[in-house]
Amino acid sequence: MMSLANQLTRKNIQGLVPYESARRTMSGGRIWLNANESPFANAYELDDSVYNRYPDFQPADLISSYAAYANVEKNQVLAGRGADEAIELLVRTFCEKDEKILICPPTYGMYAISAETCNIDVVKVPLKSDFTLDIPAIEQAQKEHKIKVVFICSPNNPTGHLVSATQIKQVLNIFASSAIVAVDEAYIEFAYENTVAGWINKYANLAVLRTMSKAFGLAGIRCGYTLANKDIIESMSKVIAPYPISWPVAQIATQALSETGLARMHSQLAIILEQKNKVQQALDSLDYVYEQLPSASNFIMFRTKQKQGLFKYLVDNGILIRDYSKQVLLDDSLRISIGSAEETQALIEAMQAFKAE
Ligand SMILES: *Cc1c(COP(=O)(O)O)cnc(C)c1O
Repeated sequence: MMSLANQLTRKNIQGLVPYESARRTMSGGRIWLNANESPFANAYELDDSVYNRYPDFQPADLISSYAAYANVEKNQVLAGRGADEAIELLVRTFCEKDEKILICPPTYGMYAISAETCNIDVVKVPLKSDFTLDIPAIEQAQKEHKIKVVFICSPNNPTGHLVSATQIKQVLNIFASSAIVAVDEAYIEFAYENTVAGWINKYANLAVLRTMSKAFGLAGIRCGYTLANKDIIESMSKVIAPYPISWPVAQIATQALSETGLARMHSQLAIILEQKNKVQQALDSLDYVYEQLPSASNFIMFRTKQKQGLFKYLVDNGILIRDYSKQVLLDDSLRISIGSAEETQALIEAMQAFKAE
């Protein structure tokens, strides 16, 4: 029998499958290469004299630091609890109940889940087999559906590829007067010259999503940003929680954006890219890996006919990676996040020791 709670739960939530985050579905292991986190845990100083007071709605030091880092104006930044909160805010701010979002799978799972929790339908226009956007199909979808928010992820999670500037402009133009186009740049530090943040003054419908969770190594504090023109920021500010950033989070993120913090981020980024290179070379030399996708991020997607055996072998050796083989265009695909030098060494040794069936 259905529990009372279930009977009372909104219909769209009853059947909802929550996001299968790495932390929710996998536990144990000693080497975590399944959530695209940074392997570096940095220390911060906290001033505890302020905790009796509510935090500022948008902590001034944090906002000015991030605006300087991203090279935008302060009124073009909204800080919140991770890029995930920004995704949900976009849906809640811009979609009426009969309107939809558009996504291009395979892509980040939270766009669809955020829409579904708000009872907003999702229009899916899959990537083409070369992982570029299917622009004619997106144009057609714009005509057929009331689309209000479009999510483009670049570098894309989970494939790792960049969406070209030309294609992003085409999408912005298709939706110029009808929808917000959110470009999710969670991994942009790994390919920073490709940011489109500089376009927010030119495209009235562009929102760029950023996070402290990946290159900055701060997934545990939950802090991310939306960059957009001040009118988009003002609309989203009406919907966001009154105190989205706690004082400890504001202090930590501000230190991470200081001159020392940025220098440390860049040196850790260089180490991660060096390890990525090693993993790419190792994958190239393994007989049982028949393809690896180019990566502009801190993770690599590759294909093997032995995906189940390999996945289990790695788990047995304490190494957790992620299986994407059930998703569209991703037959036989596993994703590895790049870890520390020691973790990379252990991963490569285990992958070389694994005997393909
Ligand atoms: C990790 C990730 C996020 C979530 O970032 P948070 O700031 O930790 O909420 C958003 N988008 C993509 C593409 C991601 O991979």
